[in-house]
Formats: sequence, structure tokens, C-alpha cells
Amino acid sequence: MFRPSTDVRVIVVTDGERILGLGDLGACGMGIPIGKLSLYTALAGIKPHQCLPITIDVGTNNEQFLKDPLYIGLKQKRLRGPEYDELIEEFMQAVVQRFGQNCLIQFEDFGNANAFRLLEKYRNSYCTFNDDIQGTASVAVAGLLASLRITKKRLSDNVIVFQGAGEANLGIAQLCVMAMGAEGTSEEDAKKKIWMVDSKGLIVKDRPEGGINEHKVHYAQNHAPIKTLTEVVREIKPSILVGAAAIGGAFTEEILTLMATNNPRPVIFALSNPTSKAECTAEQAYKATNGTCVFASGSPFDPVTINCKTYRPGQGNNAYIFPGVGLGVMCAGIKNIGEDHFLMAAEALADMVSDEELEQGSIYPSLSRVTECSVTIATKLVGYAYKKGNASIFPEPEDKETFVRAQMYNTDYVPAIPSIYSYPKL
Ligand code: NAD
Repeated sequence: MFRPSTDVRVIVVTDGERILGLGDLGACGMGIPIGKLSLYTALAGIKPHQCLPITIDVGTNNEQFLKDPLYIGLKQKRLRGPEYDELIEEFMQAVVQRFGQNCLIQFEDFGNANAFRLLEKYRNSYCTFNDDIQGTASVAVAGLLASLRITKKRLSDNVIVFQGAGEANLGIAQLCVMAMGAEGTSEEDAKKKIWMVDSKGLIVKDRPEGGINEHKVHYAQNHAPIKTLTEVVREIKPSILVGAAAIGGAFTEEILTLMATNNPRPVIFALSNPTSKAECTAEQAYKATNGTCVFASGSPFDPVTINCKTYRPGQGNNAYIFPGVGLGVMCAGIKNIGEDHFLMAAEALADMVSDEELEQGSIYPSLSRVTECSVTIATKLVGYAYKKGNASIFPEPEDKETFVRAQMYNTDYVPAIPSIYSYPKL
């Protein structure tokens, strides 16, 4: 691993197996680490030379690419098993050897089976997190917490149906359990509020079709099997419906109408992206619910006007969370990043939504304030780290926010010396 700058503080790494909802893009997934690190710089002031995007090319199972003479990556099937694990282990050790223990490693767009395994393996021994699981969970829970200000309920008073039981939804479900715990609800009771649907239908104990892995089993309910999402919504009557299965159009008009029939203010999150994979559009959601739903999406949607009222749907973009978490981790030198950090980030983000934004149907702060969101999240994390004894940068800064701001790179153009542009026009 050679690179001129040794002052690398944050790495975003992928193996290209599950890029957005597009699947296995192999080496062509490199745009994701580069794009995410651009957001670290643009939204949290992490200096560009401290960012390193990495794609670990372990081959691809994308047949189209394997046949394409111009494909830039290794033309072989994906490496699996012990050899794959050894390569990742070597990578993790090399990062620490070259850039130190405090270098943050963000896992991005790994396939389902590897993402959970690697997170479990490395979370306590490296400065690492998985954005698809933990970052998504945090931004989604932030939206849910903000939605409670509209529905006037506690999170624990809701029934949540998740369509999809992959990285995104399992992460969100786990953080929901934690958020309900903060309301005083036991883990057992919190899990009773959570229902998950995967490609084989409702996840229930002893499901004849099987397919319930160690992560899904926590949410397997005592209930008769149900095959379709429509039937699940009809029978379980959720107040919150979250989609992250990359099945475009999965929230049909019938499902959306059922949500509105069963709830005065149904909460509907269509998180899959890109836009073609969204479970429904903002317009479909607002129309079918006659403007009563609290809607958020993973893809951006234009404002929608119904009955003379304009709704500005919020985008549950992970960019609200990971740059701020990364900034906080770097500023305090936090070595291990736990679920508590992501819940704290979610609460901070939810608190930043103004009453005007809620009134317009948006449960996220305007994107124009996203850098302020990063600063707020980072400041909270820094304060928490010193309180909990998890910080490793000393002495402890007295004014945490000023300290955080002082570390940030300024992306505004400030000419250091008079340039031709500062001369008056002749
Ligand atoms: P994943 O591959 O880990 O999980 C997808 C899940 O969907 C799997 O559990 C699969 O069994 C399930 N599934 C497949 N077909 C189904 C069907 N017909 N009905 C119900 N479930 C079905 O992927 P992921 O990381 O969880 O991401 C899923 C989607 O969410 C992607 O489109 C991704 O881009 C999007 N996402 C959005 C955000 C965001 O908006 N902030 C964040 C992360 C992921």
C-alpha cells in the first residue's frame, strides 16, 4: 500500500458487491468510496488529503462484466471463504500499520453476508463502522424520531413493518429497539413491535420456507406465515412502513391506501435507491393517503401539491450522519464506534428539524444546513467521548464546538495572495 500522504484519517472501503440497489459492480464500484469521501470534505470539513478511497478487487459475479473486454477489474468470480477473510484481515492490519489505530475505516456497499460478519469481527478492535447498516439506521431513526413530533406518539407506541430484511432494515430495527429502550421499553417488548418481510414473506418462527438467518431470527414473530406485503399490512396494521428491499414500486396504491385507512398519520419510508428502485414516489404516497402520510425516501423527490398544500419530502440520506460521526470520531480520537454513537447522532439530527420543516412534511433539516448537522453531531460525540472516557486526544477541549470547528477544512475559496480576480475591472 503506497501513497504519498501518510496523514490518512478516514478510509471508505468497498469490495463492490452491493452498490446501492444496483448489485455487483465489482471494480466499477469505485465511485462510491470517492463520492462518500467527497461528502466527508464538503459536509464535515475533513481535509481532502486525509481521505483515502479504496476498492478491494476480489473479482465479480456480474456476468456482463466478466464478458466485457473493457471491464477494468479482475475477470474472475468473487473470492469467497478463508482466502477472502485473510485478504480483509491483511487490509485491516495494513491500515493500522501505515496510518495508525485512529484511522477510521468505513465499510460501504459490501454484500449482505460479508457486511454483518466483518462488522461483528472488527467493531471492537478497530476504529470502524458499516455505513449501510449503522449509518442508515441512524438517519432512518432520526426521521422516525422527528415523525413522532407530528404523530404525537412515542416510538414504542408504534407498530413497524419493514419490507426487506437486509443490511439497511436490520440495522434500523436494531436501533429502533435501542431507541425504544431509551423510552423505557424492554428489549423483548420492543421486538414485539417490529415485523419484518423478506423475499419469502413475513418472518415468523418455524417458517416452512426457512431462510431465517442469525440476524433475522431476533425479529421472527409468533404468527402464522403470510406471503405478501399487502396481506401483512392488512393483518398487522402497521403505523410505520419502511421499505429497503430494492423492489421498485413495492408500496402499491392498495398498500398506501390501507396505511391511510388504519392511521390518521401513517409514516411511510421508501428508502430504496436509486430512484427506479424506490418503493413508491412521494407523489404516489401523498396522493394515496390524501396528504396525511409522513413520508421520507432514500432518493430525492420534488415537492408535491395536494389539496392546495405543498409537501416537501425529506430525503433520509446517510450524508446527514456519517460525515458528522467521522468528524466527531477524529476530533476526540474515539477508538471504537458503538450503536450508542449512532443513536446519539439520530437524536441530534431529529432535534435539528424545525417546526416549519415539519409543517411542510419534511422530517429532515434542509440540505442547506447539512454542514451544521455534521458540526452538531460531532460536538455531541466529542462531549460524550470525554464523559465516557473514550477520547484519546488530550487535553480535553473546554469548548467542544469551537474545537470541532477549528479542525474543519474550509471549502470556500479564499485567495491567499491578490490575484487578477481581485483587481478592479478596467
Ligand atoms: P440488502 O441486499 O442487504 O437487503 C435487501 C433485502 O431485501 C434482503 O433481505 C432480501 O431478502 C430482501 N428482499 C429481496 N426481495 C424482496 C421482496 N420481494 N420482498 C421483500 N424483501 C425482499 O440491501 P440493503 O443494504 O438492505 O439495501 C436495500 C436498499 O436500501 C437498496 O436499494 C439501498 O440502496 C437502499 N438503502 C437506502 C439508504 C438510504 O436511503 N439512506 C441506506 C442504505 C440502503
